[in-house]
Amino acid sequence: MVDILFLGTGGGRVNLIRQLRGTGGFVLQGKSLNIHIDPGPGALLRLHSAGFDPLSLDALIVTHMHVDHVSDAGVLIEAMTGFTFKKRGLLLASASVLVGDRHGDKSISTYHQSLPAKTEVFGPQDSKKFEVKEGMDANAHAIGSFSLSGVPVKHDEDSAFGFVMELDGVKIGYTSDTEYIAGVHDSAYSGVDVLIANNLKSAADGIPDHLHSGELIRLLQAAKPKLCILSHMGMGLIQAGPEAEAARIESASGVPTVAGKDGQYYCTDRCGWFRPEKKKGKEEKGQKKLE
Ligand SMILES: [Zn+2]
Repeated sequence: MVDILFLGTGGGRVNLIRQLRGTGGFVLQGKSLNIHIDPGPGALLRLHSAGFDPLSLDALIVTHMHVDHVSDAGVLIEAMTGFTFKKRGLLLASASVLVGDRHGDKSISTYHQSLPAKTEVFGPQDSKKFEVKEGMDANAHAIGSFSLSGVPVKHDEDSAFGFVMELDGVKIGYTSDTEYIAGVHDSAYSGVDVLIANNLKSAADGIPDHLHSGELIRLLQAAKPKLCILSHMGMGLIQAGPEAEAARIESASGVPTVAGKDGQYYCTDRCGWFRPEKKKGKEEKGQKKLE
């Protein structure tokens, strides 16, 4: 079982500044690992709001260098490493984030990159199993493991990637920011348990580089994930009503689809959404589902 805590389901330039919806990414909480994905602005504060201790993060994945995916990475690395005092945790990020983009800019400082037990460039063609250890040496205690397969994106960042992660027996796909790549995305996300789709808008508007509902419906029809969760929603979609849009996508694609909710967990073990305060009594989780 994996719980997914959404710290931000908003996307786009206007929402980024207005914060109608958060932009802090999401945390995959498995049996033994807490993995934070794409910690944009507000990630640290929204972890606290959700009652989630940032020191309990074990890994951080940054899919590309855009500010709404990476701005809080430095502070979360300081948390993951026990206020910088412990050499622990894993940092995976695109080459642009860690090595530098075409201007030579890194999105995470060399200092912060040096803090985790392991920092590694990951890309759309990579596929690997990662073991997260408590320390640096070969005999260090292993906390847990996951496998990660990169998925190509069409976005204005050359080294950006989507992924399929297998964690505790659950397959989770994440499109990151991308246009639909027919064929490639269909097979990459085929049959995953959950697909988190960064669906910026309900229809094409001439602005490239992001998914819209029409493309997402084609992707869902072909890949047939067991569930799709909408995230990274732009201002138009937020104002029009994410739940209605999710229902429209579900009816057109035949794939169960829900809109992500800021500050709430989605439980992949069929118990649906629940609020953070209900997380504390783990035995009560099933009874506290919201829908
Ligand atoms: Zn982006």
